[in-house]
Amino acid sequence: MFGDAFSGGRKNTGRQSGRGSDLRYNMEISLTQAFKGDKAKIRVPASVQCKDCKGIGSKNGVAPETCNACNGHGKVRAQQGFFTIERTCPTCQGSGQVIKESCSVCKGSGRIQKQKTLSVNIPSGVEDGTRIRLSGEGEAGLNGSPPGDLYIFITISPHYIFQRDNANIYCRVPIPFTSASLGGHVEVPTVDGGRAKITIPAGTQSGFQFRLKSKGMSILRSKERGDMFVEALVETPVNLSKRQKEILKEFEDEGKNEKNNPETEGFFSKVRDLWEDLKD
Ligand SMILES: [Zn+2]
Ligand SMILES: [Zn+2]
Repeated sequence: MFGDAFSGGRKNTGRQSGRGSDLRYNMEISLTQAFKGDKAKIRVPASVQCKDCKGIGSKNGVAPETCNACNGHGKVRAQQGFFTIERTCPTCQGSGQVIKESCSVCKGSGRIQKQKTLSVNIPSGVEDGTRIRLSGEGEAGLNGSPPGDLYIFITISPHYIFQRDNANIYCRVPIPFTSASLGGHVEVPTVDGGRAKITIPAGTQSGFQFRLKSKGMSILRSKERGDMFVEALVETPVNLSKRQKEILKEFEDEGKNEKNNPETEGFFSKVRDLWEDLKD
């Protein structure tokens, strides 16, 4: 600090010069939008360069004059005891330049606050947490410096039917126990807005996953799609009528055959073994 700072280094880089700040914009989109891609219009608060002074901050944009107090160095020297102290010029705040008359439109800041509408291209297959950069759409720079960038942070809102895991889509579909037992069909929605028919084989268990190839999510910069997994959720019937109960009772009496419920039989034979072991 006590050396000769005036040789070399930064000189007269202008009044508070600098690139504008980057801005962040949070955007929440639906899974359908993420699947198809979309063009969204957003309104962002942004400071833009003042047209009247071209961002310089002076009346009519006249060039700032060299500061007389520091001769444009931005620093002044003062003798203090044995030392020569350098400090930032109080007249120009270190910029080396002064503006005699401020621009009345922006009050000398060189920028004005505005809202601007931007079109954002959301690519098909976009992932949650993706950052889209709009170059030069950030805050305006000072003194005609380049503007910052605008970063759009994409969040995909949870869907009420589908869960996404990268390129794959998962959903759980309740299946009546009669269809699960006898076999049947079920129609499920797909993320592209269509429908897919699933054949339920007789004896389908809860938790079984059907895989629908290429019915999943779109993939960024690709024509391919992930898969869709449909998990069967066999529903136990409730609110039975008297007649239904009778039929089921009859069904139960009929089915003393252990082959009807191999899982149950298998489990309880293990339980019997366990209890036998505990006796010893
Ligand atoms: Zn000065
Ligand atoms: Zn201005």
